[in-house]
Amino acid sequence: MFEATLAGSLPKPSWLAEPDKLWPAWRLAGPELAAAKRDATLLAIKEQEDAGIDIVTHREPSRQHFVHGFLEHVEGIDFSRRVEMGIRKDRYKAMVPTVAGPVGLKARVHATEARLARAHTKRRLKFTLPGPMTIVDTIANGYYTDNIELAMAFAGLLNQEARALAADGVDVIQFDEPAFNVFTDEVRDWGIPALHRCIEGLACVTAVHICYGYGIATNRDWKASLGGEWRQYEAIFPALAASHIQQVSIECRNSRVPIGLLGLLEDKDVLLGVIDVATDRIETAEDVVATIEQAMRYVSAERIFPCTNCGMAPMHRDIALAKLAALGRGAALARDKLG
Ligand code: ZN
Repeated sequence: MFEATLAGSLPKPSWLAEPDKLWPAWRLAGPELAAAKRDATLLAIKEQEDAGIDIVTHREPSRQHFVHGFLEHVEGIDFSRRVEMGIRKDRYKAMVPTVAGPVGLKARVHATEARLARAHTKRRLKFTLPGPMTIVDTIANGYYTDNIELAMAFAGLLNQEARALAADGVDVIQFDEPAFNVFTDEVRDWGIPALHRCIEGLACVTAVHICYGYGIATNRDWKASLGGEWRQYEAIFPALAASHIQQVSIECRNSRVPIGLLGLLEDKDVLLGVIDVATDRIETAEDVVATIEQAMRYVSAERIFPCTNCGMAPMHRDIALAKLAALGRGAALARDKLG
């Protein structure tokens, strides 16, 4: 009970990439970079195991950004045709590449680190992939009829990689959909159907991470504008509850999402964000237990998996590791007190 896991990334070591950045430049190139990425994957697993994390992740040492790191493996995308686009309903401006032809996977995306991670841990292993709606919101469409057709095309590629990851021995595959809280009508109409395409034929556990974003300044400003209660999820939780996705990852620590909304997720597992990624203050084990206790009013204990609110990629590495340890200690204390 209360098995701990991460929503996503940890910061990359400074010998691998520039520290404290969301889009860091690699420190190495060619075969040296490939070897360093392998080393970072092993280190990430060891750090998570030592912190008491039950379901460990690859933590993304191998990709610069969670969306564009996937797109680099996709043919049909012209990275030389970059256009400025307002993404997440114009919350950020980003220079995004253009879909210029039919999309297809050039080769496996995460085979190396999946097999390496699987060979080096006996714990359950989780991999994350960007969700189709979030990809569509992070790229310019210069080929497909509309966003729905584009999302379904990407969902097919994600399904191809997800099936291969499951065959590599990955236990949980999570699709990251931060776009879900800004396109609430579209989530019902095509966001969830696209996720269903992603998980077709998958025997492993499936999850979706929805969130209000990393703890970077743009997001903090945006969150401050959302008012005292964030009720965006009220519109999409019933649709997620009716979906075939088994787990939903959501930020709850210091979040203004009313905790009672978790009841709308019905029988889904909840990857409960108990670690705030927008502050450097380290949670205590008691803080973690307090968030779990609040959630237990709406979600049964066996469906709660203590987790981080979001990825920790842009944080200072020592802070992120201290938060990782707090997560492990908090989950252990919750098992003692509440299990
Ligand atoms: Zn997130």
